[in-house]
Amino acid sequence: MVLLAVIVGMIFGSFANVCVHRIPQRESIAFPGSHCPKCNHGIAFYDNIPLISWLFLGGRCRHCQATITWRYPLLEVLMGVSWGLLAWHYGPTFMFAEAVCLFSLLWILTFIDLETFLLPNVLTFPGIALGLAFSWWFGDWQDALIGAIAGYAVLWTVARLFLKITGQEGMGYGDFKLLAMLGAFMGWQALPFVIFASSVAGALIGAVMLKLCNRGFRTEIPFGPYLAVAGMCWYVWHEQILGWYLDISGINL
Ligand SMILES: [Zn+2]
Repeated sequence: MVLLAVIVGMIFGSFANVCVHRIPQRESIAFPGSHCPKCNHGIAFYDNIPLISWLFLGGRCRHCQATITWRYPLLEVLMGVSWGLLAWHYGPTFMFAEAVCLFSLLWILTFIDLETFLLPNVLTFPGIALGLAFSWWFGDWQDALIGAIAGYAVLWTVARLFLKITGQEGMGYGDFKLLAMLGAFMGWQALPFVIFASSVAGALIGAVMLKLCNRGFRTEIPFGPYLAVAGMCWYVWHEQILGWYLDISGINL
């Protein structure tokens, strides 16, 4: 079953690449079929096999030799590995279905944000609705609703303060909606960790990147990927994270 999840996950990853490429440009994700963005040549099914075709073609279009970005195989592998790990962790349960929906959305949003600095509403709004629906099914819709509203409100407030103090836009509305989506799936309990972990990781990695680039201008860094990865960590490890926290703070429950 895990192997099946990996294979289906990789095939879904191929579709996810289409979403990453087309959604920011407001193109249909169904029509036309896969084609090379350079030469417009249609891509045959044997050139569209996740990871394998990319390796076999040496990362180039068969017809015009244009390079195919490594994001294609990377996202396919990440999807396959995620689906496989979740299948292994949850087995054939409804929990697995929820986890796969959340992780798939988060990976797609991560790559769109990395490439375009956008977190499109066509993904975050259905994501919030889906998270609330799953939470309703699991019987914790109150936590989810509070999570969605608080997730949006907290980041909105932080961004407002940041703008007031520094005069600069630190985050976008997409980030607020992404955190609302995480709250909808995982309840408000996820928010403190997600905000803390994503801010710390963002500050550290951002500082390293600024140092490496060492340019004068202010480099824009997308925040969505940090929120997304922090959310995935909480989804899988929230019991362990809470355990550490209680150990460190010396609270006995
Ligand atoms: Zn081509």
